[in-house]
Amino acid sequence: MEQKETVCSVAKKCGGCRYQGVSYQEQLRRKQRITEGFLKKFGKVEPIIGMEDPYYYRNKVHAAFGRDRKGNVISGIYEEKSHRIVSVDDCMIEDKKSQEIIRTIRGMLKSFKIKTYDEDTGYGLLRHVLVRRGFSTGEIMVVLVTVSPIFPSKNNFVKALRKEHPEITTVVLNVNDRQTSMVLGDRNIVLYGPGFIKDRLMGLTFRISPSSFYQVNPVQTEVLYGKAMEFAAMTGKERVIDAYCGTGTIGIIASGNARDVIGVELNRDAIRDARMNARENKIRNVRFVPGDAGWFMEGMAAEGEKVEVVLMDPPRSGSDRKFLHSLLTLSPEKIVYVSCNPETLARDLACLTKRDYLVKKMQPVDMFPLTDSVEVVCLLENRRTRPGRS
Ligand code: SAH
Repeated sequence: MEQKETVCSVAKKCGGCRYQGVSYQEQLRRKQRITEGFLKKFGKVEPIIGMEDPYYYRNKVHAAFGRDRKGNVISGIYEEKSHRIVSVDDCMIEDKKSQEIIRTIRGMLKSFKIKTYDEDTGYGLLRHVLVRRGFSTGEIMVVLVTVSPIFPSKNNFVKALRKEHPEITTVVLNVNDRQTSMVLGDRNIVLYGPGFIKDRLMGLTFRISPSSFYQVNPVQTEVLYGKAMEFAAMTGKERVIDAYCGTGTIGIIASGNARDVIGVELNRDAIRDARMNARENKIRNVRFVPGDAGWFMEGMAAEGEKVEVVLMDPPRSGSDRKFLHSLLTLSPEKIVYVSCNPETLARDLACLTKRDYLVKKMQPVDMFPLTDSVEVVCLLENRRTRPGRS
């Protein structure tokens, strides 16, 4: 029998989980239908790969801190499209241990005389708490986001917190004194441990700092990246581009089966993390270039460079014309397109299949149970350079 999903008490106000009250099997069926709606004109869409346990999968948990009308400290999420905090005690998709740590911190504020920040009056100190956990290493980072770098009795606070949760491996104070909807400010002060955690994906180690981009569902990330590697089916001789590489995870994983890999990414902080990740894993056949992926591809195409495989993982908006056109000029044997939006994927596939490419495989993966997002990994092959053709 299909289990009916229990409903979270703040589902409506939060708005994150659109599939509240829908059984997991039905969620998967709906995602399959949505994906097919956009993509079946390009061929067969494989059955979506779901999670064995679709709860508490998020390795990054954020709570805003404030007070309710009675003056009690609350922590939770901002109500959809507003700045009112809705108290959350048991989110169904966030890591349990991280939520427990947030509850502990909430309980400690009074005895440490730490006030939550009030946006209207500008009074108080603590704005947010962010907890990130490396699921495969067990390392935990707590980030206390405050308006001022002065945190009273900070050493005792860290000591008391670690007494309750000895599994915390680092504590960072992040100073955010701006009126902004961004959670983190620019300044990090390490209060305990190294200031970052590590996690392992496909046997490789990745460093996660307070603001680094890292996939939030590590279990399904391995499934997704595994499919991407299976589709690329590299032999060790290929030159590979990892476009929109973020902190370099896909390219670094691919480097073991490639001659060399070039990652390109707009965000300079992510490039710095990517380079560090390559060094940490002692990988020498990968390099990372900061800049626009379209600009980079144009340069490669103009210089007549030869590339066998392009792995691409653009944001929701998909790729731009410049990128797609230079991809057609560069004419790699294979393109593996990882997409978090089947609508823009369909648009970009229409452009690529009009010319030299054939869609060979499309595999949806459920990265975000309970929400309506779908991730798809797609393999395209070049008609002109397909093996067995001359
Ligand atoms: N492949 C990575 C990150 C994918 S997220 C991973 O799996 O972890 C998409 C990335 O594209 C983001 O890091 C974003 O900064 C980057 N990006 C967005 N527009 C870009 C552009 N025009 N050129 C290069 N990178 C871009």
